[in-house]
Amino acid sequence: MDRFSTFAEIRDGIDRGETSAVAVAEAVLDRIAAEDASLNAFLHVDREGALAAAAQVDRQKAAGQPLGPLAGVPVAVKDNLCTRGVPTTCASKILEGYVPPYDAHVVERLRAAGAVIVGKSNMDEFAMGSSNENSAFGPVRNPWDRDRAPGGSSGGSAAVVAAGLVPGSLGSDTGGSVRQPAAFCGITAIKPTYGRISRYGLVAFASSLDQVGPFARTVEDTARLLTVLAGHDPRDATSAERPVDDYLGAVSRGVAGLRIGVLRDAIESLPDPEVKASTLAAAAALEKAGASLVDVSLPSVSHAVSVYYLVATAEASSNLARFDGVRYGVRKGGGGSLVDMYGTTRAAGFGPEVKRRILLGTYALSAGYYDAFYLKAQRVRTLIRRDYDAALANCDVVLTPTAPTPAFKLGEKTSDPLEMYLADVFTLPPSLAGLPAIATPSGLTKSGLPLGVQLTAAPFAESMLFRVARVIESTVGLLDRHPTIV
Ligand code: GLN
Repeated sequence: MDRFSTFAEIRDGIDRGETSAVAVAEAVLDRIAAEDASLNAFLHVDREGALAAAAQVDRQKAAGQPLGPLAGVPVAVKDNLCTRGVPTTCASKILEGYVPPYDAHVVERLRAAGAVIVGKSNMDEFAMGSSNENSAFGPVRNPWDRDRAPGGSSGGSAAVVAAGLVPGSLGSDTGGSVRQPAAFCGITAIKPTYGRISRYGLVAFASSLDQVGPFARTVEDTARLLTVLAGHDPRDATSAERPVDDYLGAVSRGVAGLRIGVLRDAIESLPDPEVKASTLAAAAALEKAGASLVDVSLPSVSHAVSVYYLVATAEASSNLARFDGVRYGVRKGGGGSLVDMYGTTRAAGFGPEVKRRILLGTYALSAGYYDAFYLKAQRVRTLIRRDYDAALANCDVVLTPTAPTPAFKLGEKTSDPLEMYLADVFTLPPSLAGLPAIATPSGLTKSGLPLGVQLTAAPFAESMLFRVARVIESTVGLLDRHPTIV
């Protein structure tokens, strides 16, 4: 086993008795201890829990019991997913010291599949951000260039996989938070159809958009993770009852005869020539592999950033009302009135971006403004979904870049929130439409930074995304390229 082993290599190596789950876990924990200081990607490493889970896999193996699909595979989990007995802070001071009494649905599923959860990864506070600089515990560094952002909000989950600390991880994606960090860090991530994965135990940011999404270095491993995570859960009312497709079987099916929708106008007008060239190279590679290219347009997506920052902030202002110093985490100013205590706790506990969003969202929902802002945004959201329905009637997937630029420098966009929000122009539209979208690498810039493309498909067509992404991976992808280990 080396640091870039795949899930199958790890699991089957354990199954064949070439290594043990405990040996794999120890190697990963040692690597994290030696290397994470330069990334700041973990908020909590659960050495004891990981070793206990690994020992359990080894006992199962010794007893001759069949091993789960992820037996002994080490994974990191974003710190907004509840883990029983292990701190869950959402990278916020307001949840410092909070230890959930239960596991998120996806965490239960990982454990049941035999995965070894090694720790909780750093993120933008409450998943609000595109660079990980909004964490109360310091930014994560991009393993390809430590002066650059790993993307956000699931930056820690992306960085640990790219750096070879773990082979896979979980993030959450509300408007791009697994896809944009995957692009910045040169790995693959999928945001499934809204409802495909249960949100039970995912700390809510914007409930009509939030989805859990897996990261891995290969398309195949991403499919393996989604297979474990997807499926109905009665504890989330929006969880879909539909059966889960055979994602793994789809991966190697190729693209012969498929129609790739190219968002031509948006790609032609990209300001960054390398992003443009890389996206067109991915399209050309698909064509060469037997797909046909068709031009598509999505007229309403020009409003996606405005719509998202109304809908997401409105929902966030309501979801975050629960952090009041009474029920969870930190309490400040307990000596005065109840209202004073709420105010003092929230003023001290939330960082500036979270406060900005609560203010924006509360305003958008307030009497007299609700129709003009929230309701109107919901209507435009419907138009965006209709644009996709029309485009996807003529093609199997829509191809765009994942982000308009490669990873930017830490600090480069922190003084201008609007500039930061524009990092999400390509990832927001599929989220607003509730559609599945995958981000996968499509090359490196001249200076050695990863570039990536995003593919969007019809509801529950995740299999289609894996098929197409696998062809991109095997032609213009970064399978054999890794950041320098320091
Ligand atoms: N970057 C977007 C935001 O700041 C998306 C975040 C997310 O998907 N959680 O809201």
